[in-house]
Amino acid sequence: MNATDTPEFTPDEIASGEALFKAPSVFVKGVTSIDALPADDKPEVAFAGRSNVGKSSLINALTSRRTLARVSVTPGRTRELNFFTLGHAEEVYLVDMPGYGYAKAPKTAVRGWTRLIGDYLKGRRELKRVFLLIDARHGIKANDRETMKLMDESAVSYQAVLTKADKPKASELEAVIAKVGEELAKHPAAYPKILATSARTGMGIPELRAAVAALAPNSVVR
Ligand code: GDP
Repeated sequence: MNATDTPEFTPDEIASGEALFKAPSVFVKGVTSIDALPADDKPEVAFAGRSNVGKSSLINALTSRRTLARVSVTPGRTRELNFFTLGHAEEVYLVDMPGYGYAKAPKTAVRGWTRLIGDYLKGRRELKRVFLLIDARHGIKANDRETMKLMDESAVSYQAVLTKADKPKASELEAVIAKVGEELAKHPAAYPKILATSARTGMGIPELRAAVAALAPNSVVR
């Protein structure tokens, strides 16, 4: 992997990540309209990506649960921002954003989604970072670019997380990381380091937990 693009974490940071995700995650609510957002009173991270990118699997791997992101496959829940809390004191919000790029989605639904996401990204003071999930086999796609544009315009910090990194060969993975890195370098709101993960093998999961914990430095670690 390209050393300049791969974040490194200290054992303490990895331990903080582990501690934050040890407590059960609690589902708070699914939000379809901007006035239904929970109070903006704790650090928040969000996960975005194309449908089928492996978002539910990744969130479940992070939280060591089989059920957390299950709601995202329940009809009606797929267009919601789903809020969960992390930590013993429920000190961090994890937001599962609706998957985009689903070919069969009606245009009106896409418009509604885009407006909700735009409003959410612009108005959320405690939103520390959006983890933008990218399939390690495919790299950045056109609709990822639309989401990146929304985040650039809203000045929301985002970080690319490659999913299904168990699929490509090591050399292919390296090439995708380099290409994604090159493109992200042109985006002002993009965090330069890329995380490669696999929900299947557990690769990159401790690092992603550490990255979340680092964004909520005052979280209660027990
Ligand atoms: P979502 O639509 O983004 O929530 O995606 P899902 O989590 O439902 O996953 C979509 C498909 O990708 C499913 O068939 C998963 O089994 C598969 N998948 C998810 N994560 C991984 C992974 O880390 N490795 C591999 N090989 N497949 C994965």
